[in-house]
Amino acid sequence: MSRKLRVLFAASEAYPLIKTGGLADVAGFLPLALQDLGVEVIVALPGYARVLEQLKARVIAYVSTFRGYALIRESRLPNSKVRLWLVDHPLFSERHGNPYLNDEGEEWPDNPIRFGLFNQALARVLAHRTAIGHKFDLVHCNDWQTGLLPVYMHQEQLVTPTIFTIHNLAYQGIYPASYHAELALPPSSWSHDGVEFHHMLSFIKGGLVYADRITTVSPSYAEEIKHDEFGYGLSGLLLYRSDDLIGIINGIDTKTWNPATDPLIAATYDAEHLDRKVENKLALQRQLGLPEDPDVMLLGNVGRMVEQKGIDLILDALPALVRQPVQIVIEGSGEARFETRLAEAMSQWPDRVGGVIGYDETLAHLIEAGADAFLMPSRFEPCGLNQMYSQAYGTLPIVYPTGGLRDTVVDATEQTIADGTATGFWMDSLSRSALERAVTEALARYREPSVWRQLQTTAMGQDFSWKHSAKEYLRLYRGLSRMAGTAGGR
Ligand code: ADP
Repeated sequence: MSRKLRVLFAASEAYPLIKTGGLADVAGFLPLALQDLGVEVIVALPGYARVLEQLKARVIAYVSTFRGYALIRESRLPNSKVRLWLVDHPLFSERHGNPYLNDEGEEWPDNPIRFGLFNQALARVLAHRTAIGHKFDLVHCNDWQTGLLPVYMHQEQLVTPTIFTIHNLAYQGIYPASYHAELALPPSSWSHDGVEFHHMLSFIKGGLVYADRITTVSPSYAEEIKHDEFGYGLSGLLLYRSDDLIGIINGIDTKTWNPATDPLIAATYDAEHLDRKVENKLALQRQLGLPEDPDVMLLGNVGRMVEQKGIDLILDALPALVRQPVQIVIEGSGEARFETRLAEAMSQWPDRVGGVIGYDETLAHLIEAGADAFLMPSRFEPCGLNQMYSQAYGTLPIVYPTGGLRDTVVDATEQTIADGTATGFWMDSLSRSALERAVTEALARYREPSVWRQLQTTAMGQDFSWKHSAKEYLRLYRGLSRMAGTAGGR
């Protein structure tokens, strides 16, 4: 019988302890799914004040860093058996609020010191420079905040294989060159085939250069980032490492996002009781002051109001969309210019456009349940969650086929409708008019109730659970740990 794989999973946020984005969902759910498959995972997080307040975590070791001692504390991820290590240092434990930003929304100026320290402390634990004797078969790093861990591991002459996962290449952790010495990084790492990036220190390059394997959160995004348009100056490096780069789609939390049991919606339903879904549409219309109409096609959108998400395309398309028999409901917060335009649209077309500016998870659930179709014209989307939630709720996504959207939504064509695989609609290009065309196409299908019902049932039958992703990670882990000792990024 083979021994359990032991994995250290390092991240800067994990649901439900601390969350700013999709990374937290991955770090909160993937380790649980891996544990169910028999992997022994320890999650490592910085010991932020907000995290320490929520847990009892005993001290298991002291570790010296370039900024004095840090404590390693041990606890468990809430409601699970997954072990959790916290790197407790005043740079984390005395900082309240958002993990990366101050109250004004600006980056903490000492972020390179904070995350550099987090990485160095973990490398020293792995090198057995502390009382912790635990051995790992593999170290899994996530996003720029853990990018220097493979570099410090190299400095410690560790041969434990490493994986680096890109959740969004747009965030790279780039800081002035002087930090290279301040973080006590090995001098050999200061070159353009190390962590130097246009004379600056790049955290993410640590992961991309030094890790044995690179993953990202969808197969299509893994291809796209090898091209200039999506590569943010790193496409050459990613192309060079393409044999070591794979895409594994994220899962969704199928307990929280299940229309059959969801306590946040007006009426629960499943694929056999789709007629009850309309109760949610009526409740949503009531709540947002739109005319109650069970038959009108309702288009939903939830998300950050930033260009990445194509919210500008939705706002640009509104004058044409309101000429069609549809209602549009938008919930989001983000850039002021988009929030203002949404408020204007709501007052210009009060019977057609409903909106909420802000962050409200309960309403997000009701939109998923109450809408007929979900608009997601993202310009790029490493994975995306809402298109998967939508399908689970029988709400057909209308997407621009990029990244994870291309991998998780099957365009309704004559062929895919005939073979029973269609689950949504693809825009034919990235423009306002393409969005209008896709809505017109969806409306035509909406008027064919049997076809619409078939698309809904197919969408609801998709299995987006974490189990699938975890199996793929496990395959990768096994392959890499078998090669350990013979391979190595550097
Ligand atoms: P990203 O991580 O790029 O923001 P994802 O689709 O991967 O995009 O995940 C975003 C998550 O945050 C989704 O679950 C989405 O519903 C949620 N979300 C974003 N904005 C809001 C909001 N204003 N209210 C409620 N939920 C929101």
